[in-house]
Amino acid sequence: MPLPHNFPPLPPALPAAVQRYWGFTTLRALQEDAMRLALAGRDALVVMPTGGGKSLCYQAPAVVRGGLTVVVSPLIALMKDQVDGLARVGVPAVRIDSSMTADEKADAAAAIRSGEARLVFTSPERLVNTGLVQFLRDCGANAVAIDEAHCISHWGHDFRPEYRQMVRLKEWFPGAAVQAYTATATERVRADIVERLGLHDPTVLVGNFDRPNLTFRVLPRVSPIGQVREVLDRHPGDAGIVYCLRRADVDDVAAQLKAMKYKAVAYHAGMSPDQRRQAQEAFASEEVDIVVATVAFGMGIDRSNVRFVVHAAMPKSIEHYQQETGRAGRDGLPSECVLLFSGADFVTLKSITEKSALEAGAAPEFVASTIKHLDDMAKYARGAVCRHRALVEYFGQSFEAENCGACDICLGDTDEVPDAKQVAQKILSCVARVKESCGVTHVLDVLRGANTDGVRSRGHDKLTTYGLLGDVPKNDLRDWIYQLVGQGALAVSEGEYPLLRLTPLSWAVMKGEQSVRLIRLARKTRRSARDRDDAPAAERHPPGTLPAGADPELFERLRQVRRQVAVGLGVQPYLVFPDSVLAEFARGRPGTLARMRQVSGVGDRKLADFGETFLNAILAHCGQAGLALDVDAPVARGAAPAKPVHKPSARRDMVFDLFRTEAALDYVAAKLEVTRGTVAEYLVEYIREEKPAGIFAWVPEDVCERVAAAAEQCGTTRLKPAFQALNEEVPYDTIRIVFAFLDSRDGG
Ligand code: ADP
Ligand code: ZN
Repeated sequence: MPLPHNFPPLPPALPAAVQRYWGFTTLRALQEDAMRLALAGRDALVVMPTGGGKSLCYQAPAVVRGGLTVVVSPLIALMKDQVDGLARVGVPAVRIDSSMTADEKADAAAAIRSGEARLVFTSPERLVNTGLVQFLRDCGANAVAIDEAHCISHWGHDFRPEYRQMVRLKEWFPGAAVQAYTATATERVRADIVERLGLHDPTVLVGNFDRPNLTFRVLPRVSPIGQVREVLDRHPGDAGIVYCLRRADVDDVAAQLKAMKYKAVAYHAGMSPDQRRQAQEAFASEEVDIVVATVAFGMGIDRSNVRFVVHAAMPKSIEHYQQETGRAGRDGLPSECVLLFSGADFVTLKSITEKSALEAGAAPEFVASTIKHLDDMAKYARGAVCRHRALVEYFGQSFEAENCGACDICLGDTDEVPDAKQVAQKILSCVARVKESCGVTHVLDVLRGANTDGVRSRGHDKLTTYGLLGDVPKNDLRDWIYQLVGQGALAVSEGEYPLLRLTPLSWAVMKGEQSVRLIRLARKTRRSARDRDDAPAAERHPPGTLPAGADPELFERLRQVRRQVAVGLGVQPYLVFPDSVLAEFARGRPGTLARMRQVSGVGDRKLADFGETFLNAILAHCGQAGLALDVDAPVARGAAPAKPVHKPSARRDMVFDLFRTEAALDYVAAKLEVTRGTVAEYLVEYIREEKPAGIFAWVPEDVCERVAAAAEQCGTTRLKPAFQALNEEVPYDTIRIVFAFLDSRDGG
């Protein structure tokens, strides 16, 4: 999956633009590859989880490349946020959508025609229905980015008919490189996107699907409102979403929460467009912190500091679950996702699916695929496997850590069934005794000794396994059967009446050669000792939300300043600064504008616009509270749970130290979680400044000699002639390293 070694590297103008406009000191590995593809004019499909940083992949190249980038996006709210966000960092962008006045449209068209606008955001409907395509082509549109590209696929969880027209994209913009972006894609959806968009020889980039900053929990649903409150009370003052299955549940839960003085609003498709807009705006502007919603709520939501997502009922698929929980912690700070599960949800959703499929005359394979999705989701909820592992593996990736430290299973919230082995043996032998000819419910009845017609008519009340687990609650027993399925110790046959079947592992367990794990979902999430700490500031920010050493009071104060600034400008608060930046202000407490500029996420424009306001707040607070200013970041040791925000200088010192020990590029890249390309940049800097005696630790001797010979021929001012002279066999990074070394010796 990495790009070929002779693929053109990023031009230095790109990281420089990212630093200048966005204030980010590094690019994420996949971002770098996506941008290299974009700048090389290649088609690509980029799959990254929510919060992975997709938008920068097309925004940053648009800034350094000539011409115009067209961004197709499904929702007006989403477009508006992006255009506002770009304006905040100083990048000219416009949108064209149905909500605009004639004057606004004329202004947008003028900005496009004059070449001022680097990006134009529009909806699929717009592209189809107007002369817009011709206009954009005439104005030099040379790149197209499609956001939420899974909307084009029937197999996706969010098919949108208006995306169907996108099959004509290549015809509309024949010369333009097309890049499709999505957070959710199984193999099938991926193939579908590539095919429908007619992508030409596309590179498919797939990011890491794990979201380490999210803690996942599944609780059996006993009292929804009480359990929702428990989560809310763990996150006072924080933003969160509570998802319910039906509109009536939304209204009910929202009303109950409001009666208990929580600042909550309802959101569902049954409300008027005006009511919905108000609810969205109240949440986005941080007037309200809790939204109770059906899944209709979310796609337009870009509030990055959502700290918890509660599902009061099972979602329709793991894709949905991933998308919906993905709205938590987009700023990278620790956040919690709780699923309240009941087996009844599966039954309800299945019958809703079947009913609506019947009414719509849907194809049988479509119905089957939908039910399979439900089934996978229920398996996840009942499973005894690490939640991070289960989610990542569902998306076809592997998960390394034995213990993720961020799910109910790994945190020990769940209770192990002490005699799991015997219980499993009883269940499995019952499946054997009924000759693998029954479904889950029947096996449950037999094991619990139910006196039903079904059991008696088949003579199963005479079996030795009849009533063997009569004292186990039905729900627990059902969960355990699914847990055995999840671990491969039982299988479920395909077909209309799925039967429980034995597997080789079943026999090994029955013979006592293999062990299995069974758990009881915890009734209540255990709280850690620090959670119970009743220091008021700490209570407002549960452990881990803020980086070590950050002052919670200052963080609160900065959030208030941000709210005022945002209201003044009429934009969403996170567009001023995301929580991650405020958290770093509260930790590092910059005492000068120069120091503030070093924080990741503070670019030139934002520093000029907001720097002083926030600096004054920091100085005032630190003066009153007697807090030190300009606190350096601790140097990370070992694996830190949340990604530390490295100051450029601290990170650079660390990398230089590693180079002094002649650490390999890949090792440094893995250690810092950055790309090899970024590390190569550091190495070039290191060589220029520290002038090491040799570079054979990084470039083999014979390669050095070849590059040096090419340098004799073509000089060291430009890379490309040497690259070509070397038959495109030596990667650009390597050439730059050797050139830096040659230059450092020339200079003495
Ligand atoms: P997505 O569209 O994939 O959900 P976003 O584009 O909204 O993700 O980015 C998620 C967050 O990560 C944003 O707050 C963004 O500012 C931040 N971000 C993106 N790229 C970087 C980077 N290279 N360094 C630091 N922060 C970044
Ligand atoms: Zn885990």
